[in-house]
Amino acid sequence: MPKKLKKALLVVEPSMPDYEEYCKAIKSIWNAKWLTNNGPIHNKLTLELEHFLKVPNVTLFVNGHSALDCAMKRLREERGEGEIIMTPFTFVSTNHAAFMNGFTPVFCDIKKSDYTIDESKIEDLITKKTVAILATHVYGYPCNVEEINKIAKKHNLKVIYDAAHAFGVEVDGKTIGNYGDISMFSFHATKVFNTIEGGALVYKDSNLKYDFDRIKDFGIAGAEAIKSIGLNAKMNEFQATMGLLNLRDVKKNINNRKKAVQLYYKMLSEVSGIVLSALKDNVKYNYAYMPILIDEKKFGMDRNQLYDKLVECNIFARKYFYPLISNIDTYKSFKANLPVANYVSDRILCLPLYGHITREDVKSVCEAIKAIRNGK
Ligand SMILES: *Cc1c(COP(=O)(O)O)cnc(C)c1O
Repeated sequence: MPKKLKKALLVVEPSMPDYEEYCKAIKSIWNAKWLTNNGPIHNKLTLELEHFLKVPNVTLFVNGHSALDCAMKRLREERGEGEIIMTPFTFVSTNHAAFMNGFTPVFCDIKKSDYTIDESKIEDLITKKTVAILATHVYGYPCNVEEINKIAKKHNLKVIYDAAHAFGVEVDGKTIGNYGDISMFSFHATKVFNTIEGGALVYKDSNLKYDFDRIKDFGIAGAEAIKSIGLNAKMNEFQATMGLLNLRDVKKNINNRKKAVQLYYKMLSEVSGIVLSALKDNVKYNYAYMPILIDEKKFGMDRNQLYDKLVECNIFARKYFYPLISNIDTYKSFKANLPVANYVSDRILCLPLYGHITREDVKSVCEAIKAIRNGK
């Protein structure tokens, strides 16, 4: 057996600013006595994110799931009920957001090359009831945004992206938030950019701003006007402060992630039975995750066995995303033909990766994997 690491290596650790600096920054909240509801720090972060993400509109939320929930509520207002074509290979938040708002999930298979929705299989799933395509830029790997756009235009469908993993990603020199009608970013502690908990919707149509502000604030549209149902999904000033400080460091963090991923690729590319994702030249990645796919025949054991052995070494990889969402009790009654998604979900494993991971940590993980494979 490879040796057990003294310090546990987790799949992610949050990026955090300097403690003293955070304390200094929140002083202004005491002076202003404004804690939430479009506070000054919240508004500053909104502008800085529009600038950083190079998008026309950003609306902030208490977390990413609530952001997606609001996007779905807005879609219900516009289109009524219907079917949404969605990926099963994602964090369950994506599917729940649609299903809980009364939409019928229609699962579409994914591609073996980058685990995103298989755009060539979307059109076969479109019916008179289809209202939207809901796809995830899983691991920060962009969906085929151009092709999905063409299909949506042809069939008059909305395109909503779960971009929870894709903060800072660009395709053909254009930032990822500029594709589709609406994109959701998550700023959860475990994501590339965090506001402790938090999230955002970014969108082209500026009129949506009033609707999102209403839906995230109980349906309230003015001092004496409650126009619709809504939730309480507002971001507070403490979250926004964390965001402003983390945003300053996010490029440096992504750069460090990139170096870690390059080292992983260098050390693991020769290992038989480990499949690494092929990265594309026209994409600027954010290196949000380090997924590997285990081919059990060549590797000599399956993903679950490798996972268990890594735990014995004090290395906590994660089976993102297993179980496949279409297989859980809530969704298994919706018929779907998903051979690739099932194959991938049974074999994928995400290795530790975060903004401040060290070269030594990456080396330890790779050496443990090699030793496990060789039965040493
Ligand atoms: C994290 C995540 C979400 C949910 O975001 P929260 O901010 O945790 O609510 C949604 N979709 C995906 C793919 C995620 O990874």
